[in-house]
Amino acid sequence: MKNSIIKIESLHKSYFSGENSLHVLKGLNLEIKEGEMVSIMGSSGSGKSTLLNILGILDSYDKGSYYLDGMFIDDMSETKAAKYRNRYIGFVFQSFNLISFKNAMENVALPLYYQNVNRKKRNEIALQYLDKLGLKDWAHHLPSELSGGQKQRIAIARSLISQPRVILADEPTGALDSKTSNEVMEILKEVNKTGITVIIVTHEEEISSKTNRIIRLRDGVIESDKVNSKILSYV
Ligand code: ADP
Ligand code: MG
Repeated sequence: MKNSIIKIESLHKSYFSGENSLHVLKGLNLEIKEGEMVSIMGSSGSGKSTLLNILGILDSYDKGSYYLDGMFIDDMSETKAAKYRNRYIGFVFQSFNLISFKNAMENVALPLYYQNVNRKKRNEIALQYLDKLGLKDWAHHLPSELSGGQKQRIAIARSLISQPRVILADEPTGALDSKTSNEVMEILKEVNKTGITVIIVTHEEEISSKTNRIIRLRDGVIESDKVNSKILSYV
């Protein structure tokens, strides 16, 4: 049996503003094994991004517990959170989140800058990742000169450069047409084949049908959590 890379127990999260509070996650239990490819579905506002941000240690939770690779993750300093994020997590977002005045290579290299890798070395490694994603010829182009699909491939290369154990993708195909979405899903599948756990938030059935396990959030709880019977190669 593979080890559990993510485990949450009775996880609660509310947002507070003034006298109002919004209870978004109401006691979630979830275990994801290393190497799984999972989608998290649910309508807009159901708490998908909230959950993903907690898993990525970008946000804290109120009650319950979260274990990442067996380590208990609770309220921690930003320095410590950043250390765990660097070591474990790669993020991919709907809006790509590329830096507009940096070229493709520099965008991909950015995580290594935060790890104090010198410029020559990090650009060299960035080029290798661009090459893997078929974008070497675009290394010196700015994001504004690239298509949506190319931008998302750059963002995936950037998420991979720090050799994460888990990729968290929040609506990665939300801004792409269906052909390009399929290409991005193929890339994420290839990434998953290398052993990296991939968790994709989406509200599109077309996207979730390409993952091995589908988790549905509704009214703050997990409504269902099923193996995707259309895909036989379940980990
Ligand atoms: P989803 O990604 O499924 O669309 P979210 O996790 O973004 O849902 O949001 C869940 C609910 O929490 C929504 O009602 C949203 O308006 C609210 N929410 C999200 N982020 C915040 C925040 N930082 N402060 C207050 N409310 C928030
Ligand atoms: Mg969202």
